[in-house]
This record gives sequence, structure tokens and C-alpha cells, in this order.
Amino acid sequence: MVAFADRHIGPTEAAQRTMLDALGLGGAEDGPTSPVETLMRQAVPASIYTGPEAAVAESRIPAAASETEALAELRALASRNTVRRAMIGLGYYGTITPQVIQRNVLENPSWYTAYTPYQPEISQGRLEALINFQTMVAELTGLSTANASMLDESTAVVEGMLLARRASKSSSNVFVVDADALPQTRAMLASRADALGVELVTVGLAAGEELPDELFGVFVQYPGASGRVWDPTAVFEAAHLAGGLAVAAADLLALTLLTAPGTMGADVAVGTTQRFGVPMGFGGPHAGYMAVRSGLERQLPGRLVGVSVDADGKPAYRLSLQTREQHIRREKATSNICTAQVLLAVMASMYAVYHGPDGLRSIAQGVAGKATLLRDWLVEAGAEVVHEHFFDTLTVRVPGAAAEHAARAREEHGILLRVADADTIGVAVDETTTFTDLHRVALVFGGPTERAFAFVAGVSVALPEALRRADEYLTHPVFHAHRSETAMMRYLKSLSDRDYALDRGMIPLGSCTMKLNAATEMAAITWPEFAGIHPFAPADDVQGYLELIDQLESWLAEITGYDAVSLQPNAGSQGELAGLLAIRGYHHANGDAHRTVCLIPSSAHGTNAASAVLAGMKVVVVASDALGNVDLDDLRAKIAQHADELAALMITYPSTHGVYEEQVVEITTAVHEAGGQVYVDGANLNALLGYARFGDLGGDVSHLNLHKTFAIPHGGGGPGIGPVAAKAHLAPYLPSHPLAQRAEHFGGYTFDGAVISAAPYGSAGILPISWAYVRMMGADGLRRATAAAVLSANYIAERLGSHFPVLYTGENGRVAHECILDLRPLKEATGITVDDVAKRLIDYGFHAPTMSFPVAGTLMVEPTESEDLDEIERFIEAMIMIKAEADAVAAGRWPADDNPLVHAPHTAVSLIAGEWTHAYTREEAAYPVRSLVAAKYWPPVRRIDQAYGDRNLVCACPPVEAFA
Ligand SMILES: *Cc1c(COP(=O)(O)O)cnc(C)c1O
Repeated sequence: MVAFADRHIGPTEAAQRTMLDALGLGGAEDGPTSPVETLMRQAVPASIYTGPEAAVAESRIPAAASETEALAELRALASRNTVRRAMIGLGYYGTITPQVIQRNVLENPSWYTAYTPYQPEISQGRLEALINFQTMVAELTGLSTANASMLDESTAVVEGMLLARRASKSSSNVFVVDADALPQTRAMLASRADALGVELVTVGLAAGEELPDELFGVFVQYPGASGRVWDPTAVFEAAHLAGGLAVAAADLLALTLLTAPGTMGADVAVGTTQRFGVPMGFGGPHAGYMAVRSGLERQLPGRLVGVSVDADGKPAYRLSLQTREQHIRREKATSNICTAQVLLAVMASMYAVYHGPDGLRSIAQGVAGKATLLRDWLVEAGAEVVHEHFFDTLTVRVPGAAAEHAARAREEHGILLRVADADTIGVAVDETTTFTDLHRVALVFGGPTERAFAFVAGVSVALPEALRRADEYLTHPVFHAHRSETAMMRYLKSLSDRDYALDRGMIPLGSCTMKLNAATEMAAITWPEFAGIHPFAPADDVQGYLELIDQLESWLAEITGYDAVSLQPNAGSQGELAGLLAIRGYHHANGDAHRTVCLIPSSAHGTNAASAVLAGMKVVVVASDALGNVDLDDLRAKIAQHADELAALMITYPSTHGVYEEQVVEITTAVHEAGGQVYVDGANLNALLGYARFGDLGGDVSHLNLHKTFAIPHGGGGPGIGPVAAKAHLAPYLPSHPLAQRAEHFGGYTFDGAVISAAPYGSAGILPISWAYVRMMGADGLRRATAAAVLSANYIAERLGSHFPVLYTGENGRVAHECILDLRPLKEATGITVDDVAKRLIDYGFHAPTMSFPVAGTLMVEPTESEDLDEIERFIEAMIMIKAEADAVAAGRWPADDNPLVHAPHTAVSLIAGEWTHAYTREEAAYPVRSLVAAKYWPPVRRIDQAYGDRNLVCACPPVEAFA
């Protein structure tokens, strides 16, 4: 049987030989040094290179399993998780994922293998889904503008706090926190506020306790963690009077029945959209949300989809202003969020599209009605239900008996209740709760064993009259047009048809590692034993998950040369923050609180600088030299200048220039000698895995991107997982969580650092993907993948180098896993811009490489190991043809303002509408190469006007007439 590694790695042995020939390595001998090993020895500096024996034989990673074996092992792990009826609440609820959405979105590569919609002309489908999401959130929260997802609810609350601090006119550093906020949110606020010098004051807001005189913001949980529903209008007013902003975390399902926070005066609403059809997955991934009142939209963190126009003046979606803001604003960015939760936001929006406002309202009424019925049954049984007004969650007082009640519910009835404290039980009802469940809960509290289930649906009496929602929402036709499954299926198909994802062709995005997301890797994530688990389920119920987590932690530690790993961060940016906070914790523990300077090379990814600021550090930029490496002289000067305050250096390896820096060990040594710590950004691990380890280069801590190197799909812009890995001395400061099932991690380490995600193991629900990837590749397969990725990048550099200069190479003239093509000389000679080339690639059936990062006017190409030689050749051919087209413009064959490049991309309509008056032919526009005749991707819109969209910010569904 074919090994999985040979399915994963695109180029066959023969193809690799062809590529090696082109690199002049065809003659290299087989045996101890195979030709590809010769290439790797040329590319990877000798000082860090690890030979195959050391890399594989001594590895802790087991030999590769077949796809069938890996699935069987995952089944065995899954069987050690116990799915019970979770009635714990606290932001996570059972939900019914409509099968039409599960099959056509979550399990459909057209959705899950797409990239972040930076090339909007080929991303109109998911951009429409996201604008539906924004519209849904904005209308349900009663605010003007929502962004296209946050990482989870608790991080959204922290972002709300940061937004309040930016936008408030108050000079106070006090942020007021509702005593009835979710425990995980309170814990995260505490760790994050500490790093930023914010003073948190907890106030019993629902009980009417007074606000302090000075504050920059107030945070209210609505309904509260206890389930209580109350009117926060007066609190919002008081916050405004003090010059602060009001932030509310609101449950979207409750908002279908309750007055919206915006209506009551909140400036910012945040929360999660998990219960809109996204499985709990032991904590994630789910889309958090944020919405703001008018006037604050330019303060929104993360991504915001807006409407602009294309070259024909037709409406077209695109990411607005904030899109690449960490890349542009760096340490002045509003947030470090890069990868968000797009796939999950798409699912939640489709849940609203499928159910519509009436369907959502009816689901909410069912939930509220059942919660009320349960209240009646519990009261009848003699229990004390604490709050009169609630939506779905009851707080029940059982003096001294909470643990006992919860144990009985779990063991006798398979139901998980929340033990809030020794005297208090929480019970949360959701869409999946049955009458039998309610009856069983009542039994635990002493209710009768026999019961007739009579239930009258209607408006719950437990919702306060004054807070019942009166206004309309989700009135746009999109929330009314897709009620039948046929209509829904076709809507989803029509959207994904507009998009370019990995199921059409390669997405050679430098720094993003768009490799294969294999079907076997994806299989387990929808199994109920992984998908149906509440993040705060008891440890005994999640033994399979804990085992999988432990194994993955051990494998990642092995791969990186570190001692301890936390899987909690929900994205690379969050891993950066966790790592920098670990460095901060370490310095503080050593009495070095004054060490606050973080050195960051000018070429670094924008999230690095933004994360450093969020960790309370001061960013000092280190220059790059002409070869794209860290300028050692400048580094030494900056170290000398900030010696006493030096906290850390953040360095990406191999560099964002796609080169293995020879001097990396010198660099890390210099930082250590000055008392600093070294953060190695591990996003480029695909160039190193099996050949060198961050820990061995002098790194103290790194994050990895499981959604790059470890095969988790990008989902159109998320989910991601950004594990943070560190040496033993930093382990105590890695992410902790107040509700974690287990204090210990692989290696016996206990973490006590900042809370980084709402759930103890972050987006645990998709960990089986990376687990399966490592398990099926084995140490040898992983190493082969690295070599294949580096070989393909070098082959592209070799073939295209004579057409577009390759900007940076290492000492032996080799690049790492990506190469930067310099298009500035082309622009100089022909007037054709990098944008023109990127858009023209669409006509050739390609997604453009990374544009203008890390160097303006360039394209950074990363083929990954998964693209076979045919696809690579197709790309090379397209690039060479485009170069020839640009030369034809320079030669005067086509006018500068009328050629296939400046008018790219070409829609079908633009080719057939009216008389063809261009200087080039229709064939040259649409079918520049023969192979396109058989398989042509047609973009749905022409080139989009970016500036227009930023000037006229529209971030909700445009009226249908706009498309007429
Ligand atoms: C992708 C990337 C990041 C950020 O990761 P996210 O998951 O998008 O937050 C950081 N650094 C580098 C070099 C990257 O390529």
C-alpha cells in the first residue's frame, strides 16, 4: 500500500530528480548523501544541520502509521471520551449543526481549504458569508458594525477592554468587571490587565453596587454567568457619565428575545457564536464576535468585510481598512489578531440564514420555555432557584450538597451540571435538551419519578417584561430565502463556486504554508466523542482528549527541541503573546521587571510587534542588512543601548525573507549574554522540521502554527492553533487555566502563566488533524516533507530567477521553503505592478503568492511539499507568460492602459458584453494558455476598487437592488 507520506508529498521521486537536475544536483550520489540531502546541506547552515540518523532514529515520534491505522488509533482515543448531556453552560452549549451545513461547509474542502480573502476577486463567496455574519451580529446586538470574528468570547472581552481604553476620554486606568462574568473571562482579564497596567475592579453590578468614580470602561455579562437576566441600562449610563465605555458580553440566542445591548446604550458587544450550530469540540474552535456603535468602527480589531465596487462599478466585497493592519501599523496596531475563526463564522452565519429570524426565535423560545419548566419542577421539588429572571441557566442553592448533586446527575443520568461552589449548582438548557433530560435533572433534586410531559410553547414568563425584544432583526432577504434544504445546499454551492481554494489549484502563499489538508486528517473532528464534549467536562470524561494532547505535546517538544508545550493559544498571534508573557513572567520572578525592551527585526511579521505591545513590552526595531539578514552590527548596538532593559529578541527562523540565516547562533548568543530571552517565531517551521530545532539554535520559546506546518486547514482565514513551546526555565510561565482538567503537562511541568484562551486546551476539537498528520508521516515522513518543500521552492527560484530576480538567498545561493521574486525591476521597465501580476494570475487560474510582504513590490512564493511537479510547472509557465505580456506592453504591442494585465482579472461577462474594443483579443484575455480551455476558473467580479471601499465604509449586507 502507498504510504501516507507519498500521498501527502506531491512530487514523486522521479519528479524530484528532475528538479534536482535543474538545480545542478542530478549528479549527486545516492546512499548516505542522497541528492536532496545534498541540497539540504547546501541550504541549511552547517552549524545547525541535523543528519538523518540523528533526526529520525532518536526521535520520540513513532514510525508512520497508515491512514487506516491512524483512524483506528483515533477511534480508540475517542472511545476514551464519554459524551454526556452537558448542562454546564458558561458560554458553551449543545447545538444542532444542520447536516446541510456540516456536509457542505465544515466537511467541504471548497470552504475549509480556502485562504484569508486578501485577493477579494476570488473570495466573493466567503466574503458574502462573512458579511452575512457581520449583519447577523450587528442586528442581534443592536449596534452598527460587527467584525468578521474574534478568537473566542473571553479574548473578545479583552479586546473590548482595550478598545474602551483607546476610545475613552477618561485618563483613568480602571476597568470595571461584572462579578457575574464567566470565570474564564475574569481569569483572562486578570492576566491581560496585569501586563498592561490596567486596574480591574470587580463590582456586583446586578446587585446594584456602585461604580467607582473614575473608570475608562465597564464590562457586563448579559445574561450573567449565573443565568440572571437584569437591565444594565443604568450601569451603561453611569459608565458614560464617568467618561468610560460600556462593553457587554451577550448571548446571541438570548438576544433573539431580549432587548439588545446596543438599544440599552452599550458601546461594544462581544461574545461567542458557538451555539449557532458549531459543535463544542472540548472548547473550540468557535467564532467570537465584536460589534460597536457607530463612530467606533475604525477602532475594531481584526478583520472587517466591506462593500466596494469593481471596475464595472458593480458591488463587490473586500476586506476593509483594518485588513492588514498589524502589517502596516505594527506596534501601533489596535490588536495582534491575524488568523481569526472564518470557517466557524461561516457556519454560524449559515445557521442564521437557514433558520431565519423566526426559526432562531423559536429555538430561543424553546430553550427559555424548557428552562422555565425546569425551574417549576425544581421549585416543586423543594429546591431554591436563586434568580427570578433568566433565559436558559438556573442557579440552584443546595447548601453543602452541590458536588453530591452533580455526581448523582452524572453517574445516574449521564448529565453534567455545573458546581459553582459547594452550595450552588448551575443548570443550563440548550437547543438539544429534551424533556427527559429535564425530568432527570428534577429527579436529582428530589422531583417525582413519574411525570406527564405537557408543555405549552410560548413566551417564557422568566424573561422580564421590560426587557422583551420589540424590534425587528435579520430582515435582509438572505435570512429568508433559504428555508428548504435544496435552496440552502444551492446557496452554499453558489458561494463556494465563486471562490478559489486548494481544491482548484495551488495557493503558493509565502509564510502561509498552504499544504494538503488530507481527508483522513479531517475525519475525526466531527465524531461525537471529539465534537460533543464540553470544555469543562470532568477529567474522567475526557481521558482520550488528554491522552491525545499529551502525545501531541510530546511530539511538538521533540520536533522543536523544547521541554514543554501548551496547546492553548488559538492562533499564532496568541502563541506569540503567550510566549512573550512567559518571558515577562520569568523576568519578573528574577527581580528583572525593568526588562521591557523587545528587539524585533524590521522584516518581522506584523503580529510580532503588536503582540509585544500587548505583553507590556517596548518595541525596538533592528535593521536588516542588504542580504535580508538581521544586521549584526545594529543588533549589537541596540543590545548595548538597551542592555539593562533588554527583555527579548523576536526572530523568525528561517527568516521572513525565506533564507536560513548563517549567524543565527551568534545572534541568540549575543542576546543571552545581555540577559535577554530569545523568542523564535516558528511560523516557518516547514523549512526546518527534521533538519534543525529552535531549541538548539538558542531559542527559549516559540510558537508554531498548526494551521501552517501541521495540516490544519486555513478555513478561509481561521481556525488556527498556535501552540507555544519553551525551555524548562520558562515552563512555569506558560498558559494556565482556572478550569483545566489537569494541571500537569507533558514532561511533568505545571504551568502557571497567563490565561490565553477561553478554554483550557484552546481549539481542542481540531487537534486530531495535526495528531493524524504527525502520526501518519512519522519522523522520516516529516523530514522528507521538509526536503520536498525546500526543493520545490529552490526549483521555482531557479526556473523563475531569470525572469524575476530572486531577492534573497543563503550563502550557497539557496532559498529555504519560499522565495521572494522581485517585481520592482519589472515595474520600472514596463509599468506593470505587482498588483497587475497578482490579478493576471487569476486569469491563468491561480491564487497569487503573498504580495508585498515582507518587502513591498515583491511576490513571495511558497509551493509547499504537497504540490506536484505538473502544478508547479503550470505556475512557472503562467509567471513566464505574464512576464512576456509585460514585456509586450513595454515594447509597445499593447498600450500601457489597455492590456490584459491592467484589466485583469477578466470576468465572463466582461468578455461577451457589448462590442470588444480592447487592444488585445478575448482569447488573450481568457485563454492565454491552452490548458485553460479544459478547466477555467471565472472570477465573479472584476478588479475591486480598494480606496472606494475605505472611503465609503459599508459593512452589512447591501440591498438586493445593488446587484441589479
Ligand atoms: C502566520 C504568521 C504569524 C501569525 O499567525 P496567525 O496564526 O495568523 O496569528 C506570525 N508570524 C509569522 C512569520 C507568520 O507567517
